[in-house]
Amino acid sequence: MTNVPEFLTNFNSHAPAFTGLFRFNEPMAGHTTFNVGGPADLWIRPEGDGFSGYAAALLEAAGEGGIPVFILGRGANLVVSDRGIRGIVLDTTGYTGLEREEGDTLWFRSGTTVDEALEAAAARSLSGLEFLAGMPGSIGGALWMNARCYGREMADIVTTVRFLERGKVLTMTQHKKDYDYKKSPFQGRDLLILEGAFALTEKAPGLIREEMKNRRRDREQKGQYRFPSAGSAFKNNRKFGKPTGKIIDDLGLKGLSRGDAQIAPWHGNLIINRGRASARDIKTLMDEVHTRVYEALGFSLEPEIIFAGEGF
Ligand SMILES: Cc1cc2nc3c(=O)[nH]c(=O)nc-3n(C[C@H](O)[C@H](O)[C@H](O)COP(=O)(O)OP(=O)(O)OC[C@H]3O[C@@H](n4cnc5c(N)ncnc54)[C@H](O)[C@@H]3O)c2cc1C
Repeated sequence: MTNVPEFLTNFNSHAPAFTGLFRFNEPMAGHTTFNVGGPADLWIRPEGDGFSGYAAALLEAAGEGGIPVFILGRGANLVVSDRGIRGIVLDTTGYTGLEREEGDTLWFRSGTTVDEALEAAAARSLSGLEFLAGMPGSIGGALWMNARCYGREMADIVTTVRFLERGKVLTMTQHKKDYDYKKSPFQGRDLLILEGAFALTEKAPGLIREEMKNRRRDREQKGQYRFPSAGSAFKNNRKFGKPTGKIIDDLGLKGLSRGDAQIAPWHGNLIINRGRASARDIKTLMDEVHTRVYEALGFSLEPEIIFAGEGF
């Protein structure tokens, strides 16, 4: 792999103008909701209108230089390894806001937080995104994950996505049939989601805000914000006959810990960082839960959390 600082110096000498931030050996713990993760060789966060042009050029040059690039949203579904990420972390959180409005369809930039998008929609009396209220994460990350809650998922509301793949910017109409439980057509590909369009419907602002408030309160009552985490640790699976949290709970595993990583004493499918957990602690705990459930019931739990970086 090419030396990363040297790569950036060469690249920036002919790249589109850069606005934003970059740092070498940047600890990823500060960029994930779990608060774990070692250094990225280069963490770079282009900002504003120049984001797409700069990101496109960077991805192309990194590809030519054999430098891997990891795309980062709000880090709300990630465990980054203690050794960190080799190559470049391209952080999308500087690319935020409403890109454009087409009637009741709103286009959001990928780094926009889900809550910022909701606020923008509510301010226009547009309904459809409320089910996501209080879910940490970016629009890009939520699309990539096909995030879901309260019986709805991103696939229900997204109409079009603009993304960058192999040097081309593509705008594609989205179809629900191409999505599945926690699966989107963007997974398993080298691409960068730039913007997503959502078809919303008019509704009284009071009703929209009421639902947002209820969703946020429900999450608070479920203890989701009490400790750093990445939300549900494992996926649900209808074949198991009950939610994964209930399976883990019924086996008496709530409260089990490895180092400072612990299965939340109040929820079987939430792994929390009690303060100084390492990525290794979290991985070891998840492996342990997987083994115990498999040995007891023959079910193979699938992690929902994404493990990124060197050494997993
Ligand atoms: C307290 C809490 C509650 C949660 N509740 C829920 C819930 O109810 N439902 C749910 O589904 N999830 C939930 N999550 C998980 C998380 O919020 C979602 O998965 C969210 O969509 C992740 O978005 P992100 O921007 O943080 O993505 P990241 O964690 O940064 O990235 C996730 C994946 O998406 C890729 N990615 C991110 N942005 C882009 C982009 N622009 N282009 C291409 N790839 C990209 C990354 O490379 C990575 O593979 C919860 C998490 C927490 C901490």
